[in-house]
Amino acid sequence: MTQSFQGFFVATLRLCVKIFSYFPVTAYFGELSLKRLTVLALAFILVACTGIPNIWGSSLPPIPSPTGIPTDTPTITPTSPATSTPTITPTFTATLTPAATLTPSITPLPSKANIERAIIISFDGLRPDAIDQAPMPNLMELMNGGAYAPLTARTIDYPATSPSHASMLTGYCMEDHGVIYNKFFMYMGYAKGTDVFQLAHEAGMRTVMIVSKDKMRQMAEPETTDVFEVAYGEPAIQKAVLPQIEQDFGLMFVHFAGADNRGHKYDWMSGEYMKVLREGDAVLGEMIKTLKEKNLFDTTFFLITSDHGGHGSNHIGLIIEDYRIPWITHGPGVVPQILDLQIYTFDTAATVAYALGLPIQPDWDGIPVYKIFGEDQIRIHEKYPCKT
Ligand SMILES: [Zn+2]
Repeated sequence: MTQSFQGFFVATLRLCVKIFSYFPVTAYFGELSLKRLTVLALAFILVACTGIPNIWGSSLPPIPSPTGIPTDTPTITPTSPATSTPTITPTFTATLTPAATLTPSITPLPSKANIERAIIISFDGLRPDAIDQAPMPNLMELMNGGAYAPLTARTIDYPATSPSHASMLTGYCMEDHGVIYNKFFMYMGYAKGTDVFQLAHEAGMRTVMIVSKDKMRQMAEPETTDVFEVAYGEPAIQKAVLPQIEQDFGLMFVHFAGADNRGHKYDWMSGEYMKVLREGDAVLGEMIKTLKEKNLFDTTFFLITSDHGGHGSNHIGLIIEDYRIPWITHGPGVVPQILDLQIYTFDTAATVAYALGLPIQPDWDGIPVYKIFGEDQIRIHEKYPCKT
């Protein structure tokens, strides 16, 4: 703008000089013409400097406006003032719900009420102190998870196979069940009284006996046992027992004669005696395995025992090792413990009946061992109840 003004001023002066040079000043303006001319020139300059455009026509071209300067009036458009309101989005959302599930998932402990079947196993002639010496790992595992009497269980005063097994399964003393010979004479008939197989059968349970001495037939009337099978030797016992387990049952009795046979031949606690106990224990392991495969193990009550012990090559009742028997229970509701109360072999029938919910017979000499279920032992043997 300054440059254009100077250019315009210079051009105006030049024009005034030209005008003065064409007109005789004194002739045109008189005596005061010089003074007037000066005033006129200044006025002209002022008018020219007022910026009135093109007072001289188009002789002066318009001065272009410098480039780069925007000519447009900026239109200020407010950019959404409402959006200035901040929207506070918390980025940290505290999760106060505890990750741990504090509500305990209470799984009820298995109780006696969960018992659906029972197995009585007799290792004929098994001494309690032979179990860990053999060893019998499957039986030891049941002991560790169950209730057992290592020293305080014994058989009847006549520690022979048939009378003792009769007391075991009937719940009576020998004088009551009448099996007084260690041999089955048919004329003598079956064991007298109400035995646990009769109770189970009457309750609608499937009853099974797998034995390895045929004289065991005397222990229960044939009509009370749905299956009665004699199997000689541990492999034969296993072959007979496992299919019966697979079919399920209410009450099963399994009799292993191996230890008694080997004891009489090779002596009790001998290597052969121990060896056949290991073989019997292996069959027990297969039974447990089959029960687990059939999802029956957790509802099965076990009672593992014997009819007598032995020493030397016999068990005629001279020392405590002839009378003392293992007495081991395992199953739903059984409280693991070592039992120190006096137990007799006829308590086996009473305890199995109690475990299965069968009626306890008032004339039984045996008493259920309630203590295995953690219950009060409301009755105990004050003394040996039998005459024989
Ligand atoms: Zn025996």
